[in-house]
Amino acid sequence: MAVEFTFEFPLPLGLHARPASFIQEKCQNFAGEIIWENLRNGRKADAKSVLSLVTSDTQHRDACRLIVAGNGESEKEFAAELRQFLLQELPLREEAALKEVPAAGAIIPRIVLDEKEVYLTGQPASSGVARGKVFVLKSGPDWESLLAGERKEKEKRSSALSAEAEKASFLKAISELQAEIKQALSEKSGVEKNILQAHLSIASDRAFISRVEELIQKEKCAATVAVAKAAEEFGQLLGGARSQYLRERMADVGDVALRLLEKLGWEKVSELKAELKEPAVVVAEDLFPSDFLSFKPEHILGLVLEKAGQTSHTLIMARGRGIPAVTGVAEASRLIRPGEEVIVDGNRGVVVVSPGEAVRRYYEAEMEAERLLAEGRRKKAQLPGMTADGRKVEIAANIGHPEELKKAWQDGAEAVGVFRTELLIYGKQALPTEEEQYRLYRRVAEEAESRPIILRTFDIGGDKPIPSVSLPHEPNPFLGYRGVRIYQEHYELFRSQVRAILRAAVHGPLRIMFPMVALVEEVRWLREQVRKFCEELKAEGVPFNSEVEVGIMLEIPSVALLADKFAAEVDFFSVGSNDLIQYFFAADRGNPRVKYLNQPLNPALLRLLKQAIDLAHQKGKWVGLCGEIAGEARLTPVFVGLGFDELSMSSGFIPEVKAVLSGLRTDECEQLVAEAMEAATAEESARLLEQFYQARFSEEVTAPELIDLEADCRNKAEVIQRVAVMLQLSGRVSNRALFEQALWKREDDVATEIGFGLAIPHCQSLEVRTPSIALLRLKQPVDWQSKEGGLVDLVVALSFPSGEKERQKLQLLPKLSRKLIHEEFRDALRQAKSREEVVALIKSATS
Ligand code: PEP
Ligand code: MG
Repeated sequence: MAVEFTFEFPLPLGLHARPASFIQEKCQNFAGEIIWENLRNGRKADAKSVLSLVTSDTQHRDACRLIVAGNGESEKEFAAELRQFLLQELPLREEAALKEVPAAGAIIPRIVLDEKEVYLTGQPASSGVARGKVFVLKSGPDWESLLAGERKEKEKRSSALSAEAEKASFLKAISELQAEIKQALSEKSGVEKNILQAHLSIASDRAFISRVEELIQKEKCAATVAVAKAAEEFGQLLGGARSQYLRERMADVGDVALRLLEKLGWEKVSELKAELKEPAVVVAEDLFPSDFLSFKPEHILGLVLEKAGQTSHTLIMARGRGIPAVTGVAEASRLIRPGEEVIVDGNRGVVVVSPGEAVRRYYEAEMEAERLLAEGRRKKAQLPGMTADGRKVEIAANIGHPEELKKAWQDGAEAVGVFRTELLIYGKQALPTEEEQYRLYRRVAEEAESRPIILRTFDIGGDKPIPSVSLPHEPNPFLGYRGVRIYQEHYELFRSQVRAILRAAVHGPLRIMFPMVALVEEVRWLREQVRKFCEELKAEGVPFNSEVEVGIMLEIPSVALLADKFAAEVDFFSVGSNDLIQYFFAADRGNPRVKYLNQPLNPALLRLLKQAIDLAHQKGKWVGLCGEIAGEARLTPVFVGLGFDELSMSSGFIPEVKAVLSGLRTDECEQLVAEAMEAATAEESARLLEQFYQARFSEEVTAPELIDLEADCRNKAEVIQRVAVMLQLSGRVSNRALFEQALWKREDDVATEIGFGLAIPHCQSLEVRTPSIALLRLKQPVDWQSKEGGLVDLVVALSFPSGEKERQKLQLLPKLSRKLIHEEFRDALRQAKSREEVVALIKSATS
């Protein structure tokens, strides 16, 4: 006789794959049948199958019945044990597993949560928002089209098919696969281990195995067709779900089925790679710069990557081209299906999958805000690279391809601070000849129209392997054979490039820069070779420019400390902060786990840079900065204070940097740096920088551009968004995503509706530059999601910078609130005819 018991499902996230695999594992120990019945929806499942359990759609607090059917005594005992497991051990195991999930560092817009959208998170990697259909670079199987072809095959073969033979080959394949996964499991840890665990549970899943057997037996399918069909069925069941966990399982089913098909010898498995033929959001594990460059620029709407580091060259190029990107999105290429529509939010590090109406509307507004910001940027791009007191700081662009020059000039670049020439040969099988390079560099020199261009010679090795230059396999390539270190061996590569530059420099101001220099002897050798090449060209009667300036990258700490000695050998330096920080803090630039060590404001780094720049200046040589941090406009005062003569960046950052630069005074920046160098931590120097901004920028609390008399907002999320957009467009808020988050944090404590149809959202945040009041009159009232449940049609938003001094400004809030209590004042705000009138009312109330 079977034993049964009912219980309430205890896990807040419902019965997703992970707890299902815990339950399956537990039930595996029992010899008989265990049926799981969800009493809410009547679905029954086999508790020994993860897939079957997951499809029971059991949610938090659903009443469930378990029927344990075996033989006699053991049923009762096992039922009691299982009950205890479900109610006590399972919640503890789930809690422990949830703690292992790493924080993503993303900001999820409230509307996405409110609408229960499916979304993936990562880190913001290139700003902006894109919407489009997905192209998965390492695509999973498109079962439908594969099966369509295979069905014909099957019809041809069906009479000759022996079900027993097909079943036997399937069972052989599955037991081989299980053994392989088990073997791999013993060698892996962390996320990879979790994935393998999930694969093993699918490869051992009773529902999956018996469905394949059934297809072979009853429908006379070949083993391959049966596997693909079962994968399609389960995949559809799981993929249609809105739960992210179920989608993960869909990807697992796909992976397991593919491996089985490989074992069964289905040659179509290799046909799965697709080509990018139309504009799409590219989703990939990682994207080599060669792949990136092989796509038409207008075809890449956005990027969603799993593993690319922030300073990977694909992301650097994406920033250069203004392509929104999110990286660190775990398993993106398995979880997002080709052809699905997604929104890539490169400002927040979020990817929304198949967005609904409300989220689309929200993101329409985001895209419009981006467009307006871009317009503002174009104006700033025209500013000269100069401080308010007239000190020239050349603002230059980093490029990886001549195609990028046009955008660089549009963005306001005054020069090219680094042309990473190795990107030209990424992924290419043959190396370019001297002649080919000459033509290309000449084109660059001519297009530059007398703006200086620094060509960095091939920086190969480390994070930039080039297939056509064979380098030995090394355990630690970042500290190995790379940059100028390979030039003696790969002499022809080096020679042809330098000769090509010397020749092309006849047509425009080209400069040479050598990467990865550590020793003075290296520079002496390099210069000696340049002299030799000049002599060769002279002897050959080939025109060249013997005056070409020669500089080096300052990206190894040894160069910084000996900059005066290096200065005797070179014409200029350019700090490659991506590598300098990596080598200075001993932290891999592409490894997200040690990202916290990427600290541009760390006083140790500031001291190193200051010393290097001073030493170079004493010898009359100039110093630029071309690592990614050069484009962080907030840091511009620090770079001016350190004494950099040139800042070179992805060109998209140029307008903002120029705008900040034009408001700075050199002596004040120097004072800031002197203080920051005395700090002990990066956080302390960040605070000093914060105070620097607050002391210099103080404006009126409100202005007409912060007033919207006819705001068309449908919900609270849109109102908060509108406030953030207005503040960012007026230059009062630097990062609107973080600012929005700060407003929501306050709302989550207690909603700020105060009655009378009025809400006063407010916050204090690092993102706010100056105390600001924004006012919105809503065209239609919205639900403020407060306890009282009232509708709001008038919104007065107050924003304050964080920091001690600014706290005093918080008295604004009670002052204004007291005024807002009076009906007369509210009526005046509601009836005001113009934005200027509202500004005057607010000013009189707060002064
Ligand atoms: C750097 O290291 O900062 C740099 C500019 O060079 P790359 O990123 O190409 O190594
Ligand atoms: Mg470098």
